Amino acid sequence: MEKTLVILKPSCVQRSLIGEVISRFEKKGLRLAGTKMIQMTDAILNEHYAHLKDRPFFERVKNSMKVCPVVVQCWEGIDAAKVVRSIIGVTDGREAVAGTIRGDLSMSAQENIVHASDSAESAKVELKRFFADNEIFDYKLSTLAHLYACDEI
Ligand code: ADP
Repeated sequence: MEKTLVILKPSCVQRSLIGEVISRFEKKGLRLAGTKMIQMTDAILNEHYAHLKDRPFFERVKNSMKVCPVVVQCWEGIDAAKVVRSIIGVTDGREAVAGTIRGDLSMSAQENIVHASDSAESAKVELKRFFADNEIFDYKLSTLAHLYACDEI
């Protein structure tokens, strides 16, 4: 099944929203395949946010990601990358639709609680950036038959 990367950013950790955010992914029916706390560094962030390097807010965004440790997670499910992106909402918390994580919990384009891979392809690259193979666990959820029809899995 598809796996995707989620990062609970310093805005999530500092505002004590870790449980709230994890709960939303759990309730949706995604399976937590890996999780750990790490301190971001410039080296990782230069790679992770390479697509933003010419934007005026690049340094500011990197600094905000280093304020405290973050929680990196691997979530799994059918179409996981697309599903997680729809649960988190658009980048700017003020524009994100109510009911999404950013729409409910963020007032900012920068301090927007979570990162999530934007496609299944980028998820593969991003998961390798943050997890060793033995940090991803392939256990089976006993509720699988209640999460999907048999022809979906
Ligand atoms: P997303 O996180 O929704 O995939 P991007 O990859 O475009 O969005 O941007 C990465 C992160 O950079 C955002 O989550 C946000 O923290 C920050 N960011 C993006 N655009 C802005 C902006 N206009 N002002 C401040 N920070 C921004």
